Parts: sequence; structure tokens; C-alpha cells
Amino acid sequence: MPYILRAVKIRSKSSYNDSRMHISNIARSLWHLFFPHTCAGCGNDAISDKQLLCLSCITELPLTNFHLYAENPVQHIFRGRLPVSYATSYTYFSKGSLVQHLLHEFKYKNRKDIGTWLGHRLGEALKASPHFAQPDALVPVPLYRSRERKRGYNQSEVLCSAMANYLNVPVLENIVMRNSPTESQTRKTRIQRWQNIEGKFEARNLSSFGGKHLLLVDDIVTTGATLESCGRALLAAGPVTLSIATVGFATK
Ligand SMILES: [Zn+2]
Repeated sequence: MPYILRAVKIRSKSSYNDSRMHISNIARSLWHLFFPHTCAGCGNDAISDKQLLCLSCITELPLTNFHLYAENPVQHIFRGRLPVSYATSYTYFSKGSLVQHLLHEFKYKNRKDIGTWLGHRLGEALKASPHFAQPDALVPVPLYRSRERKRGYNQSEVLCSAMANYLNVPVLENIVMRNSPTESQTRKTRIQRWQNIEGKFEARNLSSFGGKHLLLVDDIVTTGATLESCGRALLAAGPVTLSIATVGFATK
């Protein structure tokens, strides 16, 4: 092909590609205008559709890194109260914090995607821990039936499903039940929390789980009353080993 013709052909192909790119940019901008994808933490819209948090929010997450230590404050909560092999939390949790905002959106605003993201991060941390023994199964702390119906999902189950991808173990959703409703623990003292939750869980017979290591998962640990009550029900139902993992570790 003569040089001049080849040049025209290349130029026309390149301008065709430019136009296509331009149209696709316009389409993307229009889509973003009508269906904006924003950071779940701060609302910043300068993030890609695949990201949940912007770089600034990811940097702001107060990671505990407890999983890197053999002894940590979450284990101390349960010392003398519940025999646990290991216990850890992914982030610190305080009032008005980014983590509180994320957990609130996850639990009360139908943002299961936030729970899935946090579950992945928690599973990743446990997998990287030199002190955490691989569990045989994950057990989500159950909600009372009517509360789960109202919310549409159990937040601990969402976390477990995401974590299971990293730990490659099953999620046991129905081995422990919350057999009566409980009032919110938020405004209660340590003693009131325990009185409110004691004996509220019941586990089915776990004799076939003899010697198995179960990882009990919840969104947040404060005084540990809920996890202790749930853990006691599991230990009463069979000879299992327990560990505990939560997203948030509440600080005063
Ligand atoms: Zn952000």
C-alpha cells in the first residue's frame, strides 16, 4: 500500500478509537451523575466503582493489629470468664469514628457490601496471624428471629460468609440460637449487659463436633457479655474449642 494511503488509514482508525473513547467517557460521566458511586466512609465521589473506601478513609482506619500478637486486649476481656484459644478484633471502635459510621451503615442501612468488605479484611488478617490456629468452622452470633426478619440479614453471617473465602471453612448458621429477644446493650452497664444476655443462647447438640475448633464471629466486642453468653452455650453443648473474632474493639 502506498505510504500516503497507509497513513490516512492509520489516522482514520486512530480518530475512530478516539471518538469511541470520548463517547465511553461521556457515558461513564452520565452514569456517575445519575448513579454516583461514593466512598462509604466520607462520601467522596472520586473513587472507582470497584472501591468501597477512598484512600483517605482506608488510611484513617484504626487497625489494632492484635492478630500479630499472642496476647492482646480482646483475649484479656475473656480471661477467667470463657476459655478461648484465641481472640482478636480488626479495628478500634469509638463513638463518632469512621468505624462506627461503617458498622452503622452495615447494620441499619442495608449496606451488606460494607460487611462483606470488613469480613474480607478480618479473614485476611486472621490468615496472616502467626498465633491464630485455623478453625474448623465459623459460627456467627445469632440475632433473635424477629430482629433478623426486620433487618433482612444477620450481620455476623455476612461477615462469616466473607471470611470463609479466606479461611476456606464452612459457616455453621444454625447450631446456636438466640431463644429470646434482648434489649439493646448500648446504654447498659457491664453488669446490666450480662443480666440482659445471660442464658439467652442455646446450642444444639455438638457431640459430633468433638475436638473441633469453632471461631465465633460478631461485629463488635464491648464488655464481651454477648460473646461470653453465646460461647458458654456452645461449650455446654459439646467438647469444642472456641476462638473469637470481631470487626470492632470498643474503647471508652
Ligand atoms: Zn472516604
